[in-house]
Amino acid sequence: MRIKVLGAAAGGGFPQWNCGCPNCRDVRSGALAAKPLTQECVAVSADGERWFLLNASPEIRSQIESNGVLHPRGPRHSPIAAIVLTNGDLDHCLGLLSLRESHPLVIYATERVRRGFTEGNVLYRTLQRFPGQVTWRLLEAEKETELTGVDGQASGLAIAAVPAPGKPPVHLEGSASPDPGENIGVVIQERRTGKRLAYFSASAAVTPAMRKKLEDADCVFFDGTFWASDELIALGLGDKRAEQMAHLPVGGPGGSLQTLAGVGTPKRIYIHINNTNPMLRPGSAERKQVEAGGWEIAYDGMEVEL
Ligand SMILES: [Zn+2]
Repeated sequence: MRIKVLGAAAGGGFPQWNCGCPNCRDVRSGALAAKPLTQECVAVSADGERWFLLNASPEIRSQIESNGVLHPRGPRHSPIAAIVLTNGDLDHCLGLLSLRESHPLVIYATERVRRGFTEGNVLYRTLQRFPGQVTWRLLEAEKETELTGVDGQASGLAIAAVPAPGKPPVHLEGSASPDPGENIGVVIQERRTGKRLAYFSASAAVTPAMRKKLEDADCVFFDGTFWASDELIALGLGDKRAEQMAHLPVGGPGGSLQTLAGVGTPKRIYIHINNTNPMLRPGSAERKQVEAGGWEIAYDGMEVEL
């Protein structure tokens, strides 16, 4: 299985357009030995020909153009066979509207996420220009299904959704009762090799079921949004704690680094990293803690082969 990180940042990207926090300031000026990051999106393939995107970021056009494997192989063609949505956040869904150039799309999502994106959304009509423009395929908890594109041909990859503690996207808060389909992680298994990718780019906690999936995987991507619970508050950038935004912080007592310390998955990678997170700074104490714990930090262009 080939895994390509198209974008590693949380919503807003790194740097974020309206942010002058130390990280954003220093990456702009070049004072920080780090590269900018686009918003989270990962591509997965078993054969190197058909690719499945995990989420569709607002920067999807530049992400496709920066990755040759995603370029068309004919006058009208895309190697992108389908797109998997892990929740309804705009940084995961807005890119769908950028793929409106009359191309049939297959989208995997829970029923809650499908409804959140399609109902009452007049812009969704741009993806309903012709019959069959979008084919939705339902993801249900723990139910394994083959990943397929428009042609329905087997990809060699199976996917299963795992509910992860989360919350509705900000623009839908308060509009419906809580639903376990609001936020999921996915396990993708290559049938030929049996190798497993566990992908949890947003989670407010680690449930026992999640922990089992992480332990059984050959590679884990996990929520690296915030280092500290009060990260935005301490920087004077917001009034919400990480947990209120449904993100388990990486550092501190009870943080994911500590919580997942016993998980011996060979490859462990933090993704969906907010621009304020001090682990983005090479050489920082936080970065050293992450590396000492055996974790890597995703970056745009990162490749993993399982
Ligand atoms: Zn910033």
